Amino acid sequence: MSEWVTINEVGPRDGLQSLGKVLTVEQRLQLIQGLVDCGIAAIESTSFVSAKAVPQMAGATELYRQLPNVANVRYAALVPNLRGYNDAVAAGARTVNVVLSVTDTMNLKNINMSLEQTAQVCSDIMKQAKADGVNGQAYLAVAFECPFEGAVSTDVVTEFAKQMYSAGAQKIIIADTIGAANPARVITLLTQIAKVLPLSQVACHFHDTRGMALANVYAALQCGVREFDTAIGGMGGCPFSPGASGNMATEDAVLMLEQMGYKTGISLHELTAVIGTVEGLVERKLGGHSYNWLKRQYLQNNEQGAHCG
Ligand code: MG
Repeated sequence: MSEWVTINEVGPRDGLQSLGKVLTVEQRLQLIQGLVDCGIAAIESTSFVSAKAVPQMAGATELYRQLPNVANVRYAALVPNLRGYNDAVAAGARTVNVVLSVTDTMNLKNINMSLEQTAQVCSDIMKQAKADGVNGQAYLAVAFECPFEGAVSTDVVTEFAKQMYSAGAQKIIIADTIGAANPARVITLLTQIAKVLPLSQVACHFHDTRGMALANVYAALQCGVREFDTAIGGMGGCPFSPGASGNMATEDAVLMLEQMGYKTGISLHELTAVIGTVEGLVERKLGGHSYNWLKRQYLQNNEQGAHCG
């Protein structure tokens, strides 16, 4: 039997947050419905932040209450603090994500807090989630390189992974926020983390900024990681990280995984069609490395077939 790999789609939150265009709640629900229709079973749907600070995520409660009710689909909500956590849980969230950037400068520039303060807030939320029976997940951002402080030590990342895991996080997500990782560094970091927690509790969030996201996924797979964050069409980056662009495209990851014999439960045909819909919603061209090939494979071939009779 093929082995399962979970694709956690982050387009509706991470992707949309870095776009200039603000979608309505209805449009965001349309995007999420499209993702669900492709068979995507884990979706970061929104964040419970101030609409003033992040207008792209306005109406989180309204959105959460109207999410497609599909068995086995796990929706996650990003929460920046306990207030956001309470709002998310009140809206029905059963999985909440916190983000801990593992350097001081990134925290100061990103949310105007010290690393120590952010770690405390994240730890408190994870503890609360555990007490409430809510699935808590902790992102470790800039886990390979910080745009302000440079290379990040694997000791530091491992220490925070341990800390968040002890606080109750069910999953630790290693995030290469500026796309600076390479396969060798992925293996070094994951090998070290595997000494303090099982890699079944670890996911990876790679960016394709330098074109190495798929290679990094392969390296993480070899280490035993079976969950990856991706964004449909490669949508989004990080608005606070200078030079950051390009979440790994969902279609690239799914294509590689399925061709390698892993199961994702995602229909590439449907996914390819939905990228076109999302391009219309966000009014920009999207698509990972494989998008043109996928279009020829799944969309244009059908039309040509009709002409050729
Ligand atoms: Mg990202």
